[in-house]
Amino acid sequence: MRSYDDQNIFAKILRGQIPNQTVLETDHSLAFRDIQPQAPVHVLVIPKGPYVDFAHFSAEASEAEVIDYMRAIAEVCRLEGVEEDGFRAISNAGQNGVQEVPHLHVHILGGRPLGRMLQPASA
Ligand code: AMP
Repeated sequence: MRSYDDQNIFAKILRGQIPNQTVLETDHSLAFRDIQPQAPVHVLVIPKGPYVDFAHFSAEASEAEVIDYMRAIAEVCRLEGVEEDGFRAISNAGQNGVQEVPHLHVHILGGRPLGRMLQPASA
């Protein structure tokens, strides 16, 4: 299990040290706009607890945190109006996943056709 670095940028957002454009805040989760949006809707949903990725979160988060987080993700899709036309939820993890910020986050992308998920990769 990877250890949590409390100096990561989302930890600083959670501590109020860096501003964010909040879309939704719940007891255990925060959703805010990505600073470099890649689609008309690009929101990041994070748990407030110190979890690096889904493996860490699923192993150590309480049931209340897990339920809150899943519902926050769905609520962001509803608030952003992407439920009907569709969206993509992505969570990058680790080196192969090219995770830049080591605090669990789900990207909610939508507002236009997003194309196929991955470019065909050479093996
Ligand atoms: P990932 O590569 O999955 O770790 O994605 C990290 C995301 O965080 C990128 O899409 C960045 O644009 C976004 N990001 C980095 N700093 C900030 C910030 N201060 N506020 C909002 N989004 C940010």
